[in-house]
Amino acid sequence: MRPVTRDRRKLIGEFAGNIRSTVFNGRPNTELETLVGELGGQIRSLPTDNTMAFERVVKAEDGSFIIYLDDTCPPTRRLFSIAHELGHLFLHMRYGDAQWEAIPVGAGYERAPNVFTPVETDANVFASAFLMPEEDFRAAAEKHFDGTRFYNAVEVAKHFGVSVQAAAIRGKDLGIWR
Ligand SMILES: [Zn+2]
Repeated sequence: MRPVTRDRRKLIGEFAGNIRSTVFNGRPNTELETLVGELGGQIRSLPTDNTMAFERVVKAEDGSFIIYLDDTCPPTRRLFSIAHELGHLFLHMRYGDAQWEAIPVGAGYERAPNVFTPVETDANVFASAFLMPEEDFRAAAEKHFDGTRFYNAVEVAKHFGVSVQAAAIRGKDLGIWR
């Protein structure tokens, strides 16, 4: 498996930041589901009786997209999943570009558990940068620093509506903590 290089991480982070500025600027992450509708997409629930159904994004018959989510997941995971699927949509399916038109209806990306591929890593990097823009993240970290040694990652995570683990990874990527 190809490792995600620092350069690639940076490029994807910048791309995610640009998408956020273009379509979501200045709005809180709690409005992410609203944004999906504004982009022309839909969010649907996975059937609870089908264990073979995974969270995914697919091209819809009308040329838009559908994100399927597991409703049993906690809100932090749900938010990250939506951003992850938007990562596939913009990075790998080029929603809004000419390449999107060439994608067949029903095609997409699914999140099978314990499957690690470069595209899945890309989508996670996108989600992380999209939900926690660098400038906002640095400000939140500064606000929740004890002044001497410790950052309160729990409070930083709450600020963005993400899991503590997701905030910890973002802080590490940005070199704020180790
Ligand atoms: Zn994925």
